[in-house]
Amino acid sequence: MGKKSGENLRKSSAHNRGLVLQLVATGEAVTRIELARRTGLTKMTISNIVSEFLERGLLEECEEELTQNCGRNPIRLEISPHAPKIVGLLIFRERLEAVLCDLRLQILRRARWDFTELDREELLKRSCGLIDQVAEGGERILGIGVASIGPVNIKKGMILNPPRFFGITDVPIVEELKKRYEWPVYMDHDSNSGALAEKLFGVGKRVQDFLFLEVTNGIGSGIVSNGEVVHNSRGYAPEIGHISIHGNGEPCSCGNRGCLELYAGANVVRDRLRLELGIDADFESLCGMWQRKEVDAALRQMAEDLSVALVSAVNLLQPELIVLGYEAIFLPQRYVDYLEELVNRRKFIRDAQRTVVKKAHFGTDAQLVGAAANLLSQVFSGKILF
Ligand SMILES: [Zn+2]
Repeated sequence: MGKKSGENLRKSSAHNRGLVLQLVATGEAVTRIELARRTGLTKMTISNIVSEFLERGLLEECEEELTQNCGRNPIRLEISPHAPKIVGLLIFRERLEAVLCDLRLQILRRARWDFTELDREELLKRSCGLIDQVAEGGERILGIGVASIGPVNIKKGMILNPPRFFGITDVPIVEELKKRYEWPVYMDHDSNSGALAEKLFGVGKRVQDFLFLEVTNGIGSGIVSNGEVVHNSRGYAPEIGHISIHGNGEPCSCGNRGCLELYAGANVVRDRLRLELGIDADFESLCGMWQRKEVDAALRQMAEDLSVALVSAVNLLQPELIVLGYEAIFLPQRYVDYLEELVNRRKFIRDAQRTVVKKAHFGTDAQLVGAAANLLSQVFSGKILF
């Protein structure tokens, strides 16, 4: 066998093994027959991969159930509790958070540190502290996934210069973590990470084109197009928060005017209501007070402001679905429905396909488990050997 074909064979075998693991982990195919059908591989190949996974404690067989009319159900496979685990690290504006997840992105352990001040050294020290805390159980770990506020350069594994981030810039976070740990490290923008988690296990599982919108202190976005999280060739992520919704609006720190996040950020709505009503409540509590006239008006306005940017995004990308993440998941359903109605009323292409607006399956944890998903997707694609 030539060197090249040997290499191709090794790659395709890694790809097939990753795919089998993904199909079982996501519950898309859980019997040998289904796996053969979904992958297009022979029953023999599937049988060999599954045997190896069973032997190595990655998968286990569930108890057989007898069907009513004599025959037996094919044996179901699932991820073994002894299978290796994945660490996720979320770097956010006022907190760091780490998780230990299994291969189904279920959280097994979590740790968090909130701060009001931060420097570069502390960022790295605390990040490692949190990683050590979740990884201390002695489980086998496949690697670390990182999700960070933007702007980031995904290709270089760098946090660039996030606004309101204590002046911290140009942190080569992937390189720094690789110095301290022997595991592979993959990073992405926090919204892309949330989108990836929803694509693999959440409301975007069977959707090829969707937009993930996170609304918090700032507004971010991740795009899934043609079944893949979109990555620009230079490593930049989409930033819907800085789409202008008022051409002559307030100046933004980014240099543009009337940016979406100046009007519809959860912090902005909260501050507006604090001034109007004199109540100091977080966004979640405010959402619970929607029956008050002023709160209702503010949340409707928020939906309207969001819809302006979303209609532009929908006209560019034609997604089937918009997934709301972070604090937007606290919005009472009536405002989600209102947002969906506005988007569908104003978008350009009005075919039979309605653009649906849904809350993230992972709720406020979408970006956090998304961090782990950044590593997991590399395992599923066969790029990390396990
Ligand atoms: Zn801006």
